[in-house]
Amino acid sequence: MTAAPSGGAEPALRDNGPPGPPWRTAALVADVLVPDDGPPVPCPAADLLAGSLTRAGVPVRRGPVALPGTGGGAGAVLATVLDAPGPEGAHGRAGTARGAGASGTASGVGLGVEVEGPDGGPAAGEAVQAAFSAWQEVAGAPRQVLLAAPRSFCAGVERAVEIVERALEQRGSPVYVRKQIVHNTRVVAELEERGAVFVDELDAVPEGETVVFSAHGVSPAVRDDADRRGLSVIDATCPLVTKVHAEARRFASRGDTVLLIGHGGHEEVEGTLGEAPSRTVLVQTPEEAARVEVPDPGRVSYLTQTTLAVDETAEIVDALRARFPALRGPASDDICYATTNRQDALAAIAAESDTVLVVGSDNSSNSVRLVELAERHGTPAHLIDGPGDIRPEWLAGARAIGLTAGASAPPALVDAVVDALRGLGPLSVEEYETARETVHFTLPAPVRRR
Ligand code: SF4
Repeated sequence: MTAAPSGGAEPALRDNGPPGPPWRTAALVADVLVPDDGPPVPCPAADLLAGSLTRAGVPVRRGPVALPGTGGGAGAVLATVLDAPGPEGAHGRAGTARGAGASGTASGVGLGVEVEGPDGGPAAGEAVQAAFSAWQEVAGAPRQVLLAAPRSFCAGVERAVEIVERALEQRGSPVYVRKQIVHNTRVVAELEERGAVFVDELDAVPEGETVVFSAHGVSPAVRDDADRRGLSVIDATCPLVTKVHAEARRFASRGDTVLLIGHGGHEEVEGTLGEAPSRTVLVQTPEEAARVEVPDPGRVSYLTQTTLAVDETAEIVDALRARFPALRGPASDDICYATTNRQDALAAIAAESDTVLVVGSDNSSNSVRLVELAERHGTPAHLIDGPGDIRPEWLAGARAIGLTAGASAPPALVDAVVDALRGLGPLSVEEYETARETVHFTLPAPVRRR
C-alpha cells in the first residue's frame, strides 16, 4: 500500500501502541506521534479519522505511534497505520513499515502513515486510504467556530444525572433507571459503567430494588406499578415537566378537553398523557390542529411538550385558537427556558454559519429541534453524538461552523468537537451568548445528603 501524504522526509514507522486483541487487521489511529528527537505531538483530529474508519467497517485502535526522525516541531494532523498480526504477534512490526510522509499545512505539518501488515487485505487498506484522503482534503484551511451560548446541559438534566450518581454512591450498584435518564448516549454509557442499569419497564426491576424515574417523567400508572412492586423510587422528573403534569390534572379536573401539543411516542408525552388519558388529545401538527374534534368547543385547554420548537408550536396554538376562541393555555409557557434559550442562541448564529453541528443524540427532542431550526434558517445542519460522527464532506468549503448542543449533551463533548476541528488546521472560536442561565433545581429528599 502507498504511504498517505507526500512531501518531506520519509521516516521509518514503529507501532508503539499498547498490546491489543488479536485482530486480523485493524487501523491504528494515532492519538499522539512520538518522534525520538522531539516532544510528543498530539493528534487532536484522531477522533475524526477514527469515526470515518468505523463507519467504513474498519476496526480501529487508538494509541501512540512512534515516528523516529521527524523532528520535534511537527504539528500532526492525522496518522494511521494498518495493524495486522505477524508471526511475532501484533506488535514490534517496525519491519513492515513501507513508507511514511509529511506534508506542510497551514497549521504545521500533517503526517499520514499507512502500513500494510502481512494479513492486511486490500479492502481495509483502500478504506483507510480513502478515509485519510478525505480528511486530508479538508485539512489545513482556516476556520471559525461560532459557538452558541447557552448550550449543553440544562438544570433538569444536571439534576437527573446527579440523582443517579448520588443513588449509586449511597446505595451501591445496581441502581435501576426506567428508560434513559436523559436522552444522551454518552451520559447513559458512563452511568452504566458506574453501575446504573437502564430498563424499559418496571417488570425488569427486581422487587424491593431502587428505581429512578427519568427526567422525562412518568404517568400515574407507572407510579402505581412501582408501589405495587414495592420498589424504592427516586424521582428525577424535571420540575418543569412536573409543572406540565400538574396543569394537565388541573385543566382536566375543571372539565376541559386538554389538547397536548407534542410528539407521539416521546416519553415525556406518554407521561403527560397518562395524567388524564380520557380527557387528553395529542396534537402533533398544524394539520391535526385543523381537524381535531372536542366534545365542547367552549371548554378546551392546551399544553405543550417542554422541548418543542417555539416557532412551530406558536403556529399550532394559533391554528387551535382560530378554531376554539375560548382556548385556554398555561399561565407561563410550557416550552422550557432551556429549550427556548438554546433555540434563540442558535438562531443568532445559524444564518452566518456555512454549516451547523448540533451535539446531541438522535432521540433527544430538543437537539433534533435545533437541527431543524438551523435548516429553517437556510443552513445545512447535522446532529452528532461527538466528533467521531463528523463527515469530511460537511466541512468542505465551510469556513464558519456553527456549534451548539442539546440540553442533554455534556459540555465536554462540545470541547471535544472544538479540539478535533482544531486538529484540522487554524481555528478561531467565538462565543455568542444570548442569555445567561442561573436556574438550579434542588435534589429530591432521598438523595439530598451525601
Ligand atoms: Fe427540564 Fe427543560 Fe431540561 Fe427538559 S430541557 S430537563 S424540561 S429544563
